[in-house]
Amino acid sequence: MSDEEFERLYGRPPIKPGGRKKVKIYWGRIIIALIILVLLICGVVQLIKSIARHFSKDDSLPAVVNSASDSSAADSTAPVESQPEQVTQPVQQQQWQFKVCIDPGHGGEDDGACITDDNGNVLRREKDDTSRLGYAIRDYLKSKNVQVVMSRETDVMLDLADICKIANDNWCDLFVSIHRDSVSGDVSGFEACVHSKMPEPDTILAQNIMTNLNSVGISNDRGIVYGYTNDRTQNYHVNADTACPSVLMEMGFITSATDNKLFDEHLTEYAKAIGDAVIKTAQDLKIVDANGTRLLSKPMISETKLYFGLDYYYSPGKIPQ
Ligand SMILES: [Zn+2]
Repeated sequence: MSDEEFERLYGRPPIKPGGRKKVKIYWGRIIIALIILVLLICGVVQLIKSIARHFSKDDSLPAVVNSASDSSAADSTAPVESQPEQVTQPVQQQQWQFKVCIDPGHGGEDDGACITDDNGNVLRREKDDTSRLGYAIRDYLKSKNVQVVMSRETDVMLDLADICKIANDNWCDLFVSIHRDSVSGDVSGFEACVHSKMPEPDTILAQNIMTNLNSVGISNDRGIVYGYTNDRTQNYHVNADTACPSVLMEMGFITSATDNKLFDEHLTEYAKAIGDAVIKTAQDLKIVDANGTRLLSKPMISETKLYFGLDYYYSPGKIPQ
């Protein structure tokens, strides 16, 4: 009986033994096709992800290459691909987690030492030199992502006690005061004045600065002076009443033509020298590690030079949270 005859007789198509089997094969194929489709989609997604990752690395490359070394720009892709992760990390960590106070000495009505001509006209004022160098040190350190607190950023006169208060209230870790020396007679040279009690961290700061200034070039290294230049038992106010390691720099004699020439010609280099010495000191004193990450849980205190002891600084409410 043909299928047509069967249907005409029974009103439905005949059930064939292989019918159910055919349906089974049909579903099996669909399942296999679905599995292949899912695998394909996963593959495409992975491919897109890897392409996207590749291009995002390439995008960050020019900045990284510029800051590290231009010579690698023409290299093949293999070393370039492995570079960004190594280079990007230090760039992110280059935020130096310490604070330095820079004090451009004198200001406002206080000119500091002055050079005048025979008619009494002022030719050069210490406060102008300390401002120029102090601001240059600030700019250099800020370009290196160091937190800088300035005692003054305009031509104003500050009380010496207020300068110390600015450094102490801001919990600065290091303090550098900039001055020019003066004397009658032909004397030249640079020196670093540190507290009379010869505190070690202050000495390290002074030594690092003098070493770097010598590298730039100075007329005469007068070394580290403990106490006041003319009285080793007394202290400059800024060394006596700052809690952190401090140094008062005499950046050559304003009365020396040689020192003035050096000061003017090497101002930017001196700023960099002092800035780099500050960063090195923060590492030497273990305030931060080589990546700039803070190691010290409290502000840096120069213990031996404190008259009123550490308890004052470490008493509740004194330490910043
Ligand atoms: Zn001065």
